[in-house]
Amino acid sequence: MNLNVNEIFYSLQGEGGRAGQASIFIRLAKCNLSCDFCDTDYERGVKMSVEEVLAKIDTYGCKWIIWTGGEPTLQLTDAIVAHFKEKGYLQAIETNGTRKVPNGIDYITCSPKQYFEKVKELIPEADELRFPIQKGDPLPDINVLPKTDRYLLSPIFDDQEIITENVAYCVELVKKNPRWALSIQVHKLIGIR
Ligand code: SF4
Repeated sequence: MNLNVNEIFYSLQGEGGRAGQASIFIRLAKCNLSCDFCDTDYERGVKMSVEEVLAKIDTYGCKWIIWTGGEPTLQLTDAIVAHFKEKGYLQAIETNGTRKVPNGIDYITCSPKQYFEKVKELIPEADELRFPIQKGDPLPDINVLPKTDRYLLSPIFDDQEIITENVAYCVELVKKNPRWALSIQVHKLIGIR
């Protein structure tokens, strides 16, 4: 089993419901969307066997993996997720909601960018829904989205720089729609990956 890996690094999850928790980020190359606000250079990748990935991440002493991208569901399979589970890893995924999530994932962050009405068919339930929002964007309709306990609005940054008008806009949206909560990309504010 091989993966096309863009990068692997160890840090803290900087946003969403697991913010602050130590995690190994495994960024898989390639995406099936092309968002204009994308902050990730996901195109490049190197082929690694799952054993090579395990040998690298075993050095970190942390048991939480975050599969991210790009779009990690383009590569992850039930068998790959089961293999990492057998080795004792808990696995989170950050997906754009355009494809099914493999079985065995422990924490699903679904962050739809388009095709909102299709997401629920593919991912009926998620641990969190996180939407990148800039000033003027409409609030997504909860009724057409997967079930979750966490509806999160994430103000879009300018690369690593906060855009205060996006934050202020999200704050007002949350105040008017209290089922939603604010999620800030704290890792960018504190200068970690
Ligand atoms: S879905 Fe995510 S990784 Fe893919 S282009 Fe959009 S923001 Fe970037």
